Amino acid sequence: MNLNNATITELHKLLTDKAISATELTQHFLSRIAENDSEINSFITITPEVAIEEAKAADLVLAKGQHTMLTGIPMAHKDIFCIEDIRTTAGSKMLANFIAPYTSTCIEKLRHAGTVTLGKTNMDEFAMGSSNESSYFGPVHNPWDKTKVPGGSSGGSAASLAACLCVASTGTDTGGSIRQPASMCGLTGLKPTYGRISRWGMIAFASSLDQAGCFTRTAEDAAILLEHMAGHDSKDSTSLNLAVPEFTAALSEPLAGLKVGICSDYFKEGLEPEVENLVMDGIKELAKMGAEVVEIELPHTKFSLSAYYVIAPAECSANLSRYDGVRYGYRCKDPENLEDLYKRSRSEGFGSEVKKRIMVGAFALSAGYYDAYYRKAQQLRRLIKNDFVSAFEQVDVIVGPTAPGTAFPLGAKTNDPVSMYLQDIYTIAASLAGVPAISIPVGLSKGMPVGLQLIGNYLEEAKLLRVAHQFQQQTNWHQQQPQSNLL
Ligand code: GLN
Repeated sequence: MNLNNATITELHKLLTDKAISATELTQHFLSRIAENDSEINSFITITPEVAIEEAKAADLVLAKGQHTMLTGIPMAHKDIFCIEDIRTTAGSKMLANFIAPYTSTCIEKLRHAGTVTLGKTNMDEFAMGSSNESSYFGPVHNPWDKTKVPGGSSGGSAASLAACLCVASTGTDTGGSIRQPASMCGLTGLKPTYGRISRWGMIAFASSLDQAGCFTRTAEDAAILLEHMAGHDSKDSTSLNLAVPEFTAALSEPLAGLKVGICSDYFKEGLEPEVENLVMDGIKELAKMGAEVVEIELPHTKFSLSAYYVIAPAECSANLSRYDGVRYGYRCKDPENLEDLYKRSRSEGFGSEVKKRIMVGAFALSAGYYDAYYRKAQQLRRLIKNDFVSAFEQVDVIVGPTAPGTAFPLGAKTNDPVSMYLQDIYTIAASLAGVPAISIPVGLSKGMPVGLQLIGNYLEEAKLLRVAHQFQQQTNWHQQQPQSNLL
């Protein structure tokens, strides 16, 4: 078996059959990173010593037969998750030298389950972006075509998996940052229900939207990971206090009788025709598998981008006020006084996209404008949420495109913020409502991957994963590989 693109399930079998050790598997991926990442730039920090130590521990656990499905599985983590004693930068100069003093709950749980930490992946600065070009550590290149972006903000996590530099990776999704890069890199990308996975130790961008999730090769692997990442955490007040379902248990139930909603607003101008055709073919495939396709309306979805670009900057302006040059993070040289320290540390430490958002957010929250912008945006958010509540009275899942096009050339949209923001036109509504969604590969357009988005009702990740898994049993789009992997 080719280890490069093997799934968690396949590698688990090799590990428990003793066909390979966790240490050998880890060495394999560390060498792949060393050989291939200079052209992709998907890692900010590689942690070989930590990885080998964890792999050796995993081998002992495997020898004793006390393993989980994840024991010895090498993973890459978005550099937004704090891991004790490892540099955690959030893709920013502000935190370029920040060594985290504790480990985020989500990563702690994955490590507890026996995963191996290969390193921390590149990302848009503080997760603001859709192309992974706003990182202080340089842009990430899409393994499918290195002149193109991988999507963002979790572009490093997506690219590292697409280039077979890890077996699975973590990401965060505030408005689309797992689903859109998954779509552009030909991967399965899951954003669970808001609150399903603890945000503790995950560097905050917009706290009412931020949600951890994962990139995998298959929906089955995503189900395995979610079982270990999810769960209540008293350290995060928005973490859901609910038992974690066995997401893998229902995967094989057939789709007969399932109602799939399509919304005509998702197929209007702005969607590349080839992407539309592939998404339509994907929907036909679901129908062939027994699902009933039903037209639904989401009348307020068209306001989601506008609402998001008030709410997310507002929350970011509050969250990022902690970077003041005093406590931790970047500090300017030779400040003249306290004000100069604040001003220069923040001006020099943050990049332009982050500064723009802090200014927009502070403006939207200011006394004179709060009602005109922030309150209105929150009202729209409620209407967008209500649309989903009524839609899910009629259907089980909503299906449509993940992104309006395939990966675009590096630099193509850096001076066109509106076109960049439109990348998330199909993903943001689910983030505002807090419902779960997944992107799965649905074909190639001019050699580049296209994603199909499935949105589910609150807490119905199991249903989403089941539809995605069944789809992957009938199609092989998720097994397509970038040419460069085969060289
Ligand atoms: N592209 C969106 C933004 O820049 C979403 C980012 C995200 O989900 N982290 O805000």
